[in-house]
Amino acid sequence: MSLTRFRSQNHQLIPTHKFTIENAQRVTYDQKICLYCDQQTTGNEIQILLQCPSTKHIANDLVATLTTLLTHSHQPTWNSLKLYQQTSIMLADPPTTLPKKFHQTAWLHATLPHILTCIAALETHLYNIPQALPPP
Ligand SMILES: [Zn+2]
Repeated sequence: MSLTRFRSQNHQLIPTHKFTIENAQRVTYDQKICLYCDQQTTGNEIQILLQCPSTKHIANDLVATLTTLLTHSHQPTWNSLKLYQQTSIMLADPPTTLPKKFHQTAWLHATLPHILTCIAALETHLYNIPQALPPP
């Protein structure tokens, strides 16, 4: 399942997830730039889900859903969260401020279908971007 590969940092389409060697040296995390735009930014989940001009639109529906759910559950607003917190929620971690015993299961029931739909659409989009293909 793609969500599991995103969460375990083992997705071949996310640059920072790839083990890369150049000139006999391991490429560091920060050197693995986004392959899908010209921003020269680290190609991690934050970039791909929230910042990359070629992919961030895919999460619009999910962000709208999460924004509404945060408001309805009296959590900090979407825009008040740090990028890593937004990314964590987009990859199916309930907000850390949500009381565990009472609401985390309900949160997952409400969000997981939207998250899975977003990740599947993102994966399809990434596979269809020509730059994403490995060199011959
Ligand atoms: Zn990008």
